[in-house]
Amino acid sequence: MSAPTLTTRPLIGLEIHVQLATRTKLFCGCRVEFGAEPNSRVCPMCLGLPGALPVLNREALTLAMRLAMALNCKIARFTKWDRKSYFYPDLPKNYQISQYDLPLAENGSFEFTCDGETRTVRIRRAHVEEDAGKNLHDNPAITQVDLNRTGTPLLEIVTEPDLHSAEEAYAFCTKLHKLATYLGVTEGVMQKGQMRFEPNINVVISDGDAEFATPICEVKNLNSFRAIRGAIDYEIQRQTEAWQKDHHYTANEQPKENRGWDDEKNATVFQRGKEEAQDYRYFPDPDLVPVVIDDEWLSAVKADMPELPAARRARLVSECGLSAKDAAQIVADRATADLFDAAIQRGADPKLLGKHFISFWAKHANKRESTIAELGIDAARIAELAILAGDGKINATAAAAIAEKMLESTDRPSAIAKAEGLEQIQDTAAIEALVDEAIAGNPKAVEIAKSGGKKWEKSLGFLQGQVMQKSRGTAPPKLVRELLQKKLGL
Ligand SMILES: [Zn+2]
Repeated sequence: MSAPTLTTRPLIGLEIHVQLATRTKLFCGCRVEFGAEPNSRVCPMCLGLPGALPVLNREALTLAMRLAMALNCKIARFTKWDRKSYFYPDLPKNYQISQYDLPLAENGSFEFTCDGETRTVRIRRAHVEEDAGKNLHDNPAITQVDLNRTGTPLLEIVTEPDLHSAEEAYAFCTKLHKLATYLGVTEGVMQKGQMRFEPNINVVISDGDAEFATPICEVKNLNSFRAIRGAIDYEIQRQTEAWQKDHHYTANEQPKENRGWDDEKNATVFQRGKEEAQDYRYFPDPDLVPVVIDDEWLSAVKADMPELPAARRARLVSECGLSAKDAAQIVADRATADLFDAAIQRGADPKLLGKHFISFWAKHANKRESTIAELGIDAARIAELAILAGDGKINATAAAAIAEKMLESTDRPSAIAKAEGLEQIQDTAAIEALVDEAIAGNPKAVEIAKSGGKKWEKSLGFLQGQVMQKSRGTAPPKLVRELLQKKLGL
């Protein structure tokens, strides 16, 4: 076979586990708490003791519905709980409570951009299930188990295999992460495993007229975006090379397999053959009643849904006159966007406020590696600074200087402006005196300006600069220029 006719098309789908931001677990009252003393957040339910009965935490379903709705899924009006056989020490009941044939949500779609193009991924389903505990391997001689995480609510989102490169998957995953955290559905801290990604990858290889598909591999439990990109790139190359070495096998002849990601080797490693649904022996949980989602519950979730980022960006562009880039920067963090809206509510001019956010507020946030909201300045003070600038009471330089002072004090911007002598001089007589001073002190520049020669404008600018300096930047530049022109007869 000749190499030039060979084309490859990767097919990538994802299973994503999103830890729902509830205070307590899915089927018991134990606190969800990362980093607590091992086995200190457990009860008979978590330990799988006989007789312990599950009680559903409705808040978990409410959060799950919020994300599913934002993913344009159809929410089931009737859903139920199933037991999935699971024989590992990190879930002592020996089954996981999940949703099998009647998931909470189905048939959604999610748009994102990659390489400047809009792409869509179809969402096959999203269901709620409980998490397992953690096996601890700190002591090389033994394995210990911490059951604090057992029973933590998860939303598992399953996509169709609509992604075709590591880059595209990366763009999708980061955007989904942003949406889920924006909605407050999860805290989304990747290092704590609050969002875990499992790509299913295979490659369709066309060799002339013949088409082959490599066996599907699922890479388990990726909790960094770097790992997602690395694992997919590695699998595409590994599967393509393996097929080229022995292109007699296809997906039908080889079982699916589970692999893990080795961060140090930058490679995936074989774990085990992938189970099929029948291996899990799902059956309805007899201890839990099915869940009916009525109109009232659905409407409440809809009413609580915040304005979604795309709509919010569009509004900041169309109603507030911001550029698309500036709007995206502000909306990237929900608390910052809330602060922006709150400052507008207090009377700040949106366009000027946008300038303040993008110039100095963003700069101070970057310096502190925080968001603008995390700078801790309330909407009232942020609005007041923009109002002072909008009314011409301070100029742009003074606004930036006052902003810097606001970070260290709780004083109002107007008080800072006064204390620092940064208010623009409104008194025309005072400015006139400074103009006269500048004219008297710079006869040469005055002569050139009056001559009307090539350099007159430059000299006028020089004189204006002199006045601004004398006023420590507090004179309105336009008025200074007008006065100079009048006095010099220009
Ligand atoms: Zn418990």
